[in-house]
Amino acid sequence: MMKNIVILGSTGSIGVSTLDVVSRHPDKFNVVGLVGGTNIDVLSEQIHKFNPQCVSVKDAQDVTVLKKRFPKIDFFSGQQGAVTVAGWESIDCVISAIVGAAGLLPTLEALKKGRVVGLANKESMVIAGEIMQQVAKENGAIILPVDSEHSALFQCLHGEKREAVNKLILTASGGPFFKRDKNDFKSITRAEALKHPNWSMGPKITIDSATMMNKGLEVMEARWLFDMPVAQIDVCIHPQSIVHSMVDYIDGSVIAHLGLPDMRVPIAYALSYPDRIETGVPSLKLWEKRELTFFEPDFEKFRCLKLAFDVAKSGKTYAAVLNAANEIVVEAFLKDKISFLNIAEMNEAVLNKHEAKEIKTLEDVLEADSWARKTALKLVGDVLH
Ligand code: NAD
Ligand code: MG
Repeated sequence: MMKNIVILGSTGSIGVSTLDVVSRHPDKFNVVGLVGGTNIDVLSEQIHKFNPQCVSVKDAQDVTVLKKRFPKIDFFSGQQGAVTVAGWESIDCVISAIVGAAGLLPTLEALKKGRVVGLANKESMVIAGEIMQQVAKENGAIILPVDSEHSALFQCLHGEKREAVNKLILTASGGPFFKRDKNDFKSITRAEALKHPNWSMGPKITIDSATMMNKGLEVMEARWLFDMPVAQIDVCIHPQSIVHSMVDYIDGSVIAHLGLPDMRVPIAYALSYPDRIETGVPSLKLWEKRELTFFEPDFEKFRCLKLAFDVAKSGKTYAAVLNAANEIVVEAFLKDKISFLNIAEMNEAVLNKHEAKEIKTLEDVLEADSWARKTALKLVGDVLH
């Protein structure tokens, strides 16, 4: 059966990998909608190749340019445009791969329409996991993980009873600074932080991997995706990124998911679930790897991971605040405005100023998000003056 799909964040790392999988199966997938940011040349190539019905971009002025190039396509812009494309009629599957909290409202729209949502946009689950699960339930939507660890866990949990689970164990590569001495963190440069040892990803998640905030966000993502208490989620460093995660069962069995580090594997699984399709990813020859190693995480060295665990345990609006502050400070680090160590310091400072409240509505999340952005921007500004 042909599946009609929409890709939110089509010009990014996940978006491009999704289109790579799709282009291998023209008999299975029909691209109906694309949402991109500001890279309209890449978007134009995608439109040319996949001929969607509707496209949304970040800025309204880009619509004028695109409309001239493709007069037959419906163009939209901004947050509302992304929501419109996310909720397009007769769609089977929406791949949610915008980066950051900007992905929340479009993802929620797809859930309201009862779609299968392949979720790469972990930030939405981190800040509004409970609301997303509720909206999915009310509308018969299905959330399938695209994040490699969560796709691995999803597969390791298949057919098992929840009560039989002792722990979910998320693996982490440790990033580029796994072996770097804590006393040398002061001198970390942007270029060093952008060099991930195993994965090629967008800039924000690459910095999050270097600070290990990414793993912290993934703990919260797992908490809501699998409805599992934080106390039952562990992180384990595994520098080779071959074991993508594991589930520890009460009988002493551990079931792990292995494969080469290539996002086309979890993307394809979300697109074709419950079937498996060819992805272009070579099979894993473990004997060529020779060594798989595992370590405990160092919470002293990776403060962001500690902050995220604390936040995950506290609940309330803390996660929305940590996520928003982190988006602001990571952007500032990417623009060379603050140091690597400032990232954790400022995230912590914003959390300490926050007066948390219970999340009852989406408004509570959005309010905490915008408060944290303002507060973090002010801290960044103070460093510059
Ligand atoms: P990226 O920066 O490469 O791509 C982001 C995409 O979102 C781009 O298409 C960009 O144009 C679009 N975008 C950004 N802001 C937007 C806005 N306001 N409106 C509309 N579009 C906007 O990021 P990525 O690495 O592809 O990551 C995307 C998401 O997937 C993130 O949440 C990330 O944590 C998650 N993820 C990525 C990977 C990976 O391997 N790249 C792995 C696991 C999870
Ligand atoms: Mg991941």
